[in-house]
Amino acid sequence: MSIARRIEKLQRDFLWGGLEDEQKFHLVNWQQICTPLHSGGLGIRNMATFNKALLGKWLWRYSREPASLWRQVIDSKYGGQGSTISWDIEFTRSVQDWELEMVESFMSLLYSQTIRPGVVDSLCWSPSCRGLFEVRSFYTTLISPHPPGIFPWKSVWKAKVPSRVAFFVWTAALGKILTTENLRKRRVTILDWCCMCKSSGESVNHLLVHCPVAWELWSMVLVIFGKNWVMPRDVVDLLSCWKGIRGNSEAGKIWKMVPHCLMWCLW
Ligand SMILES: [Zn+2]
Repeated sequence: MSIARRIEKLQRDFLWGGLEDEQKFHLVNWQQICTPLHSGGLGIRNMATFNKALLGKWLWRYSREPASLWRQVIDSKYGGQGSTISWDIEFTRSVQDWELEMVESFMSLLYSQTIRPGVVDSLCWSPSCRGLFEVRSFYTTLISPHPPGIFPWKSVWKAKVPSRVAFFVWTAALGKILTTENLRKRRVTILDWCCMCKSSGESVNHLLVHCPVAWELWSMVLVIFGKNWVMPRDVVDLLSCWKGIRGNSEAGKIWKMVPHCLMWCLW
């Protein structure tokens, strides 16, 4: 096992089990945990990916420090890059008719860059606004190549509740809390029924949103705040539409805590 994997295992076991030796269920997979908060993760650093990002610094320095000794050593050992650069593009296959337009725009992009004689090319790191390499921006590019999803991360993490409650709501929003339905998916032999209404199966959305007992609790609170409310489809939708109903007043702060308090109580 690589060192990165060993460290990751320690992190995972600590996250789900604390310092106890007992094996606990790992509710959310590590890849998800390593994505940023706004994508529904915890923003924990992925060791292997972060290592790659750190190594990126050396690639950057390689081209920025042509005179330094370490680069000369690498050049002499592995053969360095030539100093002149010219457009000599070879495609791996021939271009199809319908791709001509794409090739044309690619070539015009290349030739639209004015090359000033006597001026040396320089590298520019586009993910950072200053154009200089930053490990952090490389790591972000590596870890989330896709645009952030629609996870209601502000509703989950910005409410003024104890962090274990926010953590619980996060796992609930991902549909990972250990309801009887989820326990059965993990091959635990257990009857799938809701212990509150004693009629339906205990899925995350039933237990926290749709169960008649839960709904009574929700309506009680909504009446206090004078709200008419149609229950959304699931926990994520509920959290998504909960935000921004009231401003930053005291009542607004309490309002933001309502989903956390109710779901924690129901659980
Ligand atoms: Zn129920």
